[in-house]
Amino acid sequence: MKEMNEQSPPSQPDASVRMEDIVSLCARRGFIFPSGEIYGGINGFWDYGPLGVELKNNLKAFWWQRTVRDRDDVEGIDSAIITHPRTWEASGHVEHFSDPMVDCRTCKRRFRADQLDNPCPEAPKKRRLTDCDLTEARDFNLMMSTQIGAQADASATAYLRAETCGSIFTDFRRVREVARQKVPFGIAQIGKAFRNEINPRNFIFRSREFEQAEMEFFTHPSSSTEWFEHWQEQRLRFHHDLGFDDSNLRTRPHAEDELAHYCSRAVDIEYLFPFGWQEIEGIHDRGTYDLKQHTEFSGKDLVVMDEETKERFTPAVIETSVGMDRTTLALLCAAYTEETLEGGETRTVLRLSSHVAPIKAAVLPLSKKLKEPARKIAADLRKRWNVFYDDAGNIGRRYRRMDEVGTPLCITYDFDSEDDHQVTVRERDGMTQERIPLEGLAAYVQERLESGS
Ligand code: ATP
Repeated sequence: MKEMNEQSPPSQPDASVRMEDIVSLCARRGFIFPSGEIYGGINGFWDYGPLGVELKNNLKAFWWQRTVRDRDDVEGIDSAIITHPRTWEASGHVEHFSDPMVDCRTCKRRFRADQLDNPCPEAPKKRRLTDCDLTEARDFNLMMSTQIGAQADASATAYLRAETCGSIFTDFRRVREVARQKVPFGIAQIGKAFRNEINPRNFIFRSREFEQAEMEFFTHPSSSTEWFEHWQEQRLRFHHDLGFDDSNLRTRPHAEDELAHYCSRAVDIEYLFPFGWQEIEGIHDRGTYDLKQHTEFSGKDLVVMDEETKERFTPAVIETSVGMDRTTLALLCAAYTEETLEGGETRTVLRLSSHVAPIKAAVLPLSKKLKEPARKIAADLRKRWNVFYDDAGNIGRRYRRMDEVGTPLCITYDFDSEDDHQVTVRERDGMTQERIPLEGLAAYVQERLESGS
């Protein structure tokens, strides 16, 4: 694991993994494709198909297991996307959650003022945006708003949350009471967030609707450094256990001038995408800012008391915030491989860890005549895992289709299986095959899947 500093050599993305191949595989096999595709799509919005939703659900379940269920000091919630608008006034989002923007007087398009070194989309070969006739920069708020109820005046304005943590702070007091928790403890949730990003790009990396998994850990301010270290280590271990390689993962501490005024320390976890190093998770020491702001805006007392010392204090917060879509994209980039086999054929394989692979095993009878016993095997295994059944086409092609979507195990039922009650289990990465008795099949599959490979 690298920590970025001025001496770090600039790592280069793996040139064999190209975004266009990933986007094309995702569309072709139904992982992820543009939302509203039949109308031409809508910029910054994506739909997850049958395989994509399984992949992302597995990722979310893994995060939830690690963050909430494995611990007795973190509670989970699922709050409304639209909450009281004062929440976003107190957090500073209504006033400050903005990017500086410029408009082009000629083509009327809008661009981020900090990204003017890009080519002009109207004449990309001729000029850069800096050569265009641009207005002065002005702030453009990224919060998406909506109207609630029949009234169409300002009092009906509400916001789609720009991050999921807002309600964690407003729910702090109730969750602490109902869960009988004492500081230090955390509250976590996974959910949709919305940002009116000016230039959504790089597939699902930067979109306008996305999912975050956030955890706010409340602690006495004197212990926040210790807890920051703890969470940074936990979060790095999580990414490791997802199967990310050390050479593609690094931490990037924020410089003083990047920190929000209330934030004393922040570290990004970055992944080396085909388009360069980019943040997938942020870890922040937010101090007592959040609970103090909500105390001021709501008039409700959000202090706690240390039962031993009787000290009353406002808890400080360590936040971990990871994008589920960005991590899904990193998983796809890390897993995507093209191999040339003996004989010159190219095999595309998604080397996903079995914890997140959308299909865990495929049952493939060698002939349609064997479909009855093969379907029974699939039905038995389906009680525990997402299992795919396919009896169409030649077996080599069926293996390739499973390799391409990252299925760790293929189980073939052939004519010998009728007599010896054994099946052939083929493993995705090494393409090795083993004969396994049917009665021990479920245990074998479980062992292979738990080993992560
Ligand atoms: P960036 O600087 O890339 O815009 P950020 O620092 O604003 O990101 P945070 O507010 O810290 O991001 O959000 C936490 C996480 O939420 C990010 O690490 C990322 O994984 C995810 N995220 C934020 N914005 C988007 C987006 N527009 N599309 C997809 N995921 C996002």
